Amino acid sequence: MHELAVCEAIADTVRDRASGRIPARVQVRIGYMRQVVPESLVFSWEMVTAGTDLEGCLLDVDYVPAVAACRICGEQTTLETPILLCGACDSADVELISGEEFQLKSFDVADV
Ligand SMILES: [Zn+2]
Repeated sequence: MHELAVCEAIADTVRDRASGRIPARVQVRIGYMRQVVPESLVFSWEMVTAGTDLEGCLLDVDYVPAVAACRICGEQTTLETPILLCGACDSADVELISGEEFQLKSFDVADV
């Protein structure tokens, strides 16, 4: 399951950066092209963190739409499917300008 792997990667990064302090909330940015299902991601996060030092830590997900810029007509299209096509002229000669994000934005460390 894709979302589980994503959550494990997030948990590893948080542990690395938090250096032993437990964050109350983690914020991530995930692009549409990553094909992650929102509900599934939150569910997987609970599974991955249950019984670990990160249990109870909230996952706050910021979804970034996929936007493609056309090299032919110059239009920008927000993609509704993960297929790279210009919405104006149907050209496949487009450049993805957002939607591939997978970033840990920030996390709040609980004051202990
Ligand atoms: Zn176009």
